[in-house]
Amino acid sequence: MSTSIVTLLSRGPVLGDGGYLIELERRGYVDSGSRREKVGIGRGSGQFTPEVAIERPGALRELHREFLLAGSRVLQALTFFATREKLSRSGYGAETEAINTAAVKLAREVAGEGALVAGSVSRTQLLEREGAGALGRARDHIGEQIRLLKDAGCDFLILETFFHLAEMSAALECARASGLAAVATMSFRSHLNACSDGYSPAECARVMADLGAVAVGANCEQGPEAMLPLLREMRAAVQVPLAAQPAAFRTTRQSPNFTGVPEFPDALETIQLGRRDFFKFGRGARAEGLGYVGGCCGCNAAYIRALAEGLDSQ
Ligand SMILES: [Zn+2]
Repeated sequence: MSTSIVTLLSRGPVLGDGGYLIELERRGYVDSGSRREKVGIGRGSGQFTPEVAIERPGALRELHREFLLAGSRVLQALTFFATREKLSRSGYGAETEAINTAAVKLAREVAGEGALVAGSVSRTQLLEREGAGALGRARDHIGEQIRLLKDAGCDFLILETFFHLAEMSAALECARASGLAAVATMSFRSHLNACSDGYSPAECARVMADLGAVAVGANCEQGPEAMLPLLREMRAAVQVPLAAQPAAFRTTRQSPNFTGVPEFPDALETIQLGRRDFFKFGRGARAEGLGYVGGCCGCNAAYIRALAEGLDSQ
């Protein structure tokens, strides 16, 4: 596709894709890590790494195809959790370059002229494990991954599922150095009114926009309805398009993040949201000022199709 993400965003809500890892875990191709480590404790344990890109490329190619058929105009290369730091923890550090390169190539093959290819970059988990002092190392790992994604030929970056604004800021600086446009979305857990280093959604949005993100917003951890209040706060704070990739899981006021409830990761089916929530989200997208909408954990092509139908019904 010769159009840039900035041009697509200027034409109205862009339909993204997602989520990949939980869907592929359900299909048997991704390891949740739940049999080896205690997960869901918020300290960066668990696996959910994307070695499927080199070990089961056919499975990943098929999921890309399903999203494209559902209407996605952007396919995210499955490079979530593919910094050398995170991959090393699951035994795939030596394959960092191969995984990032293969993932972009697979997404490109399927996208053809029908969609853009985004390199997905997420937190390293170093800050959750070691604290703010690890920021420099996190920046180095993210910088390396962005260079790999650029060399592999992605069209732009989606920086997503960052818990700390400090790490997101470092990632945006690396993105700027690469010359690639970046959509930037934070994830809010434990509290909907502040990220892990204490900044409100509005403050996060302002900082991400000031650092050059072409769209800013939130992804993961909450379903569409639970995410809307924080998106509205962001909407009021910035002029750039807003991006949202909600999860498809039910959360509560006490536990506003699905990765913090006992159902994660082995009983997620019991808190699954219906795709109707995504239809509603799509129908309200323009009125809410959303410029980019997609799905995250718990979504598959049926949810993206519902989102597309919602967008069309506005
Ligand atoms: Zn997610």
